[in-house]
Amino acid sequence: MSSNKTLTAGEITELTNGLTRLARNLWWTWHQESQEIFQELSPRGWQNLYHNAMAVLHEVSDYELRVRLQDPEFASRVRGVLGSFDAYMKEQLTWGRQNAPELLDTPVAYFSAEFGFHETLPIAAGGLGVLAGDHAKSASDLGLGFVGISLFYREGYFQQTINQDNWQTEYYTLLNPKNLPMELVVNGKGDPVRCSVRMAMSQVVFQAWRVNVGRCPIYLLDTNLPENEPHYRDLTLRVYGGDSTTRIMQEILLGVGGVRLLRELGCRPSVFHMNEGHAAFLTLEITREKMAEGKSFAQAFEETRQHCLFTTHTPVEAGHDRFSSDLINYVAQKFKTQLRLNHEEFMALGRVRPSDQHEPFCMTVLALKCSRAANGVSELHGAVSREMWACLYPGKTVDQVPICHITNGIHLLGWMKGPVRRFWRRKLSAISETEQAPPPGGDSTMFWRQKPVPNWDSELNSPEFWKRMLDPNFVSDEELWALRYKLRRELIEFSRRRLLLQGQRLSQRDFIAFDQLLSPDALTIGFGRRFATYKRAPLIFEQLESIIQIVKDKQRPVQFIFAGKAHPRDDEGKKFIQKIVHLSKYSDLLGHLVFIENYDIHVARQMVAGCDVWLNNPRRPLEASGTSGMKAGCHGCLNLSILDGWWREGYDGTNGFAIGGDSHPKSVQEQDRLDGQNLFEVLTEEVVPCFYNRDAGGLPRPWLQKVRRAMATLVPQFNTWRMVQEYASRFYLPR
Ligand SMILES: *Cc1c(COP(=O)(O)O)cnc(C)c1O
Repeated sequence: MSSNKTLTAGEITELTNGLTRLARNLWWTWHQESQEIFQELSPRGWQNLYHNAMAVLHEVSDYELRVRLQDPEFASRVRGVLGSFDAYMKEQLTWGRQNAPELLDTPVAYFSAEFGFHETLPIAAGGLGVLAGDHAKSASDLGLGFVGISLFYREGYFQQTINQDNWQTEYYTLLNPKNLPMELVVNGKGDPVRCSVRMAMSQVVFQAWRVNVGRCPIYLLDTNLPENEPHYRDLTLRVYGGDSTTRIMQEILLGVGGVRLLRELGCRPSVFHMNEGHAAFLTLEITREKMAEGKSFAQAFEETRQHCLFTTHTPVEAGHDRFSSDLINYVAQKFKTQLRLNHEEFMALGRVRPSDQHEPFCMTVLALKCSRAANGVSELHGAVSREMWACLYPGKTVDQVPICHITNGIHLLGWMKGPVRRFWRRKLSAISETEQAPPPGGDSTMFWRQKPVPNWDSELNSPEFWKRMLDPNFVSDEELWALRYKLRRELIEFSRRRLLLQGQRLSQRDFIAFDQLLSPDALTIGFGRRFATYKRAPLIFEQLESIIQIVKDKQRPVQFIFAGKAHPRDDEGKKFIQKIVHLSKYSDLLGHLVFIENYDIHVARQMVAGCDVWLNNPRRPLEASGTSGMKAGCHGCLNLSILDGWWREGYDGTNGFAIGGDSHPKSVQEQDRLDGQNLFEVLTEEVVPCFYNRDAGGLPRPWLQKVRRAMATLVPQFNTWRMVQEYASRFYLPR
């Protein structure tokens, strides 16, 4: 080690350039040591700038950075991190190279209207986008040939505050590309690449931003250019912003524009994967290209189909975009001419009954008609989708409808909170120490985090590692409980800080009391997700008197942390928020129920890590998969959920709690009543007694056994490494 040698100016420049390179690749968002470097550069900046590495680098002057790098310990850690980054980027022995080498030259092009990568780039509205982000991160980890396409919404998704009337209000902040890990896409001469798409009577020009997600580029299209009319410039203003005209134009931009950009960049995708129907117009652009080569529509459409894949994400009606005949006529004029289709023929592509002139154009229908394979996102959702779309396949029974399922997952390393990563890393380095001789000349006084754990990420995604959770010699109940306590404490303190900042909900008198909100010892139940009404956020408060009783139980207290956004136009969802916020302020639940504003990836991570129980009570079978519960597993938080989506596959009787059975009640009212009742029963008869069943040493042994079971059975299954491998082998590779 050259720890006490002064660095030369050249060496320092290499490190400062390296840090900029690192900040420009989202890889750092799933690499703990990188985050620690940026955090250490400016701890307060890190917090105030919301964990934004680029912004922190701008905050610290060049001079300071160079001086700081003269600290040999810091410089050596920076060098270590850059070494890991370069090794990651250059890795040759990837799963993708070994199992899907053909995709390296002709990659998967993955189209998604939203991507959720990190809290500093809020261009996702919810689970769909977070899933897309996790898909991309795992595609990178696995070394798959993969590019993503989406839009650069410069105001992103809305930020939420709750006003005096407990009503959600929305505001938007402008994203600054300079402070984000994105670069304008330029051509060989250094000029921005420009493409255009036809919308109604106009030619709309767009540029693109490249976001580096490890080894995978994601391109975000952007129409905010002076040559466009103002309303076209605002096509890429907000996630799902505006009316249905904006919506269809955003979708034309995404689908058609996305294909044009890839062509312009010389990218030759072998498959086009549509994450939801929003991108389905891509099929028509590819068909148009083939027709320009002289093929008939029928032939071109059929050939296009062989390259397209479609994942449907929801059985909820509103989740399937439908556009009126008039709107299609207005917006897609030119397209129809190019495809040599008349209006009714064009409309038929998006209709279940092609000749029904009253039927609107449905993006899901187009996507299903023009893909060689389609899937739902859990076993139950696959079945529900086959039933839902059987109408498109006359002559086939429901079982024969060609929609399969690939269950969703999460990108483990990206979701795991710091202390948990450190915990597992310590465990893993303990294994590799006992199983391998120390490296020659290894310095035993080195920080544990500098000790490389060989293949730490693939270890962490291996079932064998998680199976070891069942072994008390590997992890003791004592240390597991200590970890759980630490995570709960962090969440409680995070919540108190947030509630203090939310401010207006506390009167001056309460102000000093915010540190008494919530108890670090109480059974903590979390609920965080979009406030779509089918998710029934306030269900548990239907039996308010009984809930107040269990919350106030001195021996066995229970508390609730809620968070989530309602869609700006969803007043019913906003009423749910209003009800819960009201209860948190004006009922006997005060201090035991809190609502954290502005749910996002950061809030989600705090909650799934710190809660003891993750509650999910959607109206079955409308939760196609759900992924937030998967994020709970690796932190030792247990699911308490309706047997819908992924949980119907994940729950095995020993690894969490189930609400309701595997059947469908007759009416929605009946379903809500039964589920509410059952939720309360499971909570009071199973969850609370198990959590407070402590032995002489104060440990909740049966609870911890469930935590172990959850880790061993759920984590290796419900992650995007498994999911992307499944997409690759069943969908992406030529058959
Ligand atoms: C994981 C996640 C979701 C998805 O949650 P579900 O419970 O599956 O609906 C939504 N929003 C954010 C910010 C998330 O991190």
